This record gives sequence, structure tokens and C-alpha cells, in this order.
Amino acid sequence: MKDLIYLDNNATTKVDPRVRGAMLPFFEEAYANPQSTQYALGREANRHLEESRETIAALLHGHASEITFTSGATETINMALKGVFQNYQTKGKHIITVKTEHKATLLTLYYLEKAGAKVTYLPVNIDGSISLDELTESITDETILVSIMAANNETGVLHPIQEIAEICQQKNTLFFCDATQWVGKLPLNLKEMPIDMLCLSSHKHHGPKGVGLFYKREKSQPIQIPPLIIGGQQENGMRGGTHNMASIVGMAKALELSVKEEPLHKKTEKLRDYFEEALLEKIPHIVINGKNAKRIFNTTNITFKYARASQIIIESPQIAMSTGSACVTGSRDPSHVLRAMGVEEEDCFCSLRFSLSKWTTRQEVEEAIRILEKSLHKVRSESPLWSLFRDGII
Ligand code: PLP
Repeated sequence: MKDLIYLDNNATTKVDPRVRGAMLPFFEEAYANPQSTQYALGREANRHLEESRETIAALLHGHASEITFTSGATETINMALKGVFQNYQTKGKHIITVKTEHKATLLTLYYLEKAGAKVTYLPVNIDGSISLDELTESITDETILVSIMAANNETGVLHPIQEIAEICQQKNTLFFCDATQWVGKLPLNLKEMPIDMLCLSSHKHHGPKGVGLFYKREKSQPIQIPPLIIGGQQENGMRGGTHNMASIVGMAKALELSVKEEPLHKKTEKLRDYFEEALLEKIPHIVINGKNAKRIFNTTNITFKYARASQIIIESPQIAMSTGSACVTGSRDPSHVLRAMGVEEEDCFCSLRFSLSKWTTRQEVEEAIRILEKSLHKVRSESPLWSLFRDGII
């Protein structure tokens, strides 16, 4: 759409033309199945598959043999959480997570609870942060897994994954990290961070959709995860199904570019900060959710008090923004992330997430501020709650 100001990059991003360029040969010339190693074209595909794995492993400071390609973060989360529960019940049935996790984690855990899992949902404070003491105290001899995201998709709030990983290591408990919103934005060094398992998803950093990976650390006592998708012997029997070659190559390229382009993030952070400051100055009664926590540089989540987010969206069709996670858009429930942070239910319905990318320009941000200022004026002028507030009744 021409002239659309796209501020929904935590939902998905535009594919980088260089990623697209790297993918194209796999539709046209190098289209063989990488399992078909009986002939040269298949061997060529296999070489590219393994090169992509090597590239990604090097960028994450891990080993190629620790990487299983999947269809994305949701699949990997299912694989890790269900897999640990299936294989570690002799130790216990206790899993620890956080109330603000992505629905892929929370709904998988609700499913496992029906099968007998005992899940602790750690609370967060007003800034969206957990207490490391509370995490430490929650781990018992029966805890088989701690599953905590690195960066929150709705607020951008970062969890201290280095410390969390170290706590789990000391307590001899497996740690799975949903790093979907972290990888491609912030550096990840798996040599230094003792994370046992993690997921990432290519489409969050200018790669193709429908591809991601499962990282499982090689340890002296191997982590036992059965395949979620049973089929051919692809991925060492860990994940059946013909490889999505073009997307896997695209994922490697996207990650390579995002690591190379890390200096661009400073510019994005400056724009995000400018956006917040300008809105705070121009629009009264707004709150930036998680502002006092460490946040990912591209994200802001703002409550526009007494103005319904759905109305602001209608009044601002030139801006792509969202009321929360793309996965729950359409749900009439208030954001579980904001609710967990103690945001009032009505204020949750007045909250919007804006997420910038390396391509967001100052001009676009200025235009978005202008549009939002105008929309807010209109939405509040028609809002019964705003009238009650203005007249001092509430
Ligand atoms: N986890 C987080 C934090 C996310 O933001 C998302 C996507 O919105 C997912 C998991 C699911 O990712 P995918 O689209 O690869 O299934």
C-alpha cells in the first residue's frame, strides 16, 4: 500500500531485497530436494542447506549440529515444551514461565496442564519485569523446565536472559528461551549465555515467513527432545518434512544482514525515543507501558487514556499499528501482557503497540505523530469517557 507508515514490525517485517535475491535461485535453478543426494543437483541443494546451518550457527556462536530447522517459533515452542514434558516426567512435572509470554507458550502450557503438568506463571511488576529471586525460589527438585522469553513482543520489555540462564544452570534445570523478538535485533552469544534451548523466527528481522529454528545445546548429558513432526529422516530425524530450502537460505541471509547492520539500531532507537517524547508532549494523558524497564530499541506500547485503540486505528488508516500481538488480533480480551503489568482493563483497550524497523524514517515518524494527534483529538471528542473525565466526574 502506497504511503502506508508501517509501524508493526514486531508482527512481521518486509523481506529485505538482498534476502529475496538469495532465495530466488532455489525456486528456479537449485530447486532439488536436499535429501536427493544421489545426483549433483540434490547434492548442491544439500550443500546450501548445510552452509545455511553453519552460517546461522556461527552468527549465534553455537554449533551447526545444535540447529534444527522448523517452520517458525510457534512450532519450536511446541516442540520444546511438549518434548521436555514428554521425556522428563521421571524427574517431575513442574514448569515455570511468566504471565507475559507469547500465546504460543501460554497455550501450549495450558494444553500440557490438561495432561498433568504443574505450571508456575511468574508475575511481573508494573514495568513488565520479573523478580529473579522469585524465579530462583520457584525452582524445585521437580522443575523440569523454565521457559522465559528474551524480549516481549507487545511492550519490548527485555528479561535478563543471561542471569536467568545462569540461575537455571546452577539449579540444574533446563532453560528454553523464546528469542523471537531478540534475535536479529540484539546480539546473542550462545557461547557466553548458557541457554539450553531457544527458538527464533526469520520473519521478525526481514527474512521470509514460515521458517525458524530450534536450537538445542549439545551437553554431556544430551537434552532429550522427541520430534514433534514425524516423517522422513530430515534434520537427523528431529523434524520430518521436505526442507523449505529457499526460506532456510533466506533465513541465513537475513540473520547475516541483521548482525552486520547492528549499528543501524541506534538510529531506530533514536526515532522510537523521539516518537515517544513528541507524543508525550503533544497528547495529554498518555502512558508508555514498560518505560522504566530495559526495552528493545524498536518497540513502544502506549496507552492513550479515554480513547479506544480500535477507534484510533479507524481514524488513522495511514498507519499500520496494532492493539497487541498479531496472533490475538480480533480477540476481544484485553492484552494479557498489559493486564499482568497491572494496567486497568479499560486502559488495555486504549493501548497501541508501535514497532519500527531499520527502514523507518524520521519523515514517517513525524507524519505518524501528526496523524495520531489529529485522530486522538477526534476520538476523544466523541468519547463519553473523555467527557466524563474532562468534566471531573471520573
Ligand atoms: N514468540 C514471540 C515472542 C513472537 O513475537 C512470535 C510472533 O509473533 C512468536 C513467538 C511466534 O512466531 P512464529 O510466527 O514464527 O510462529
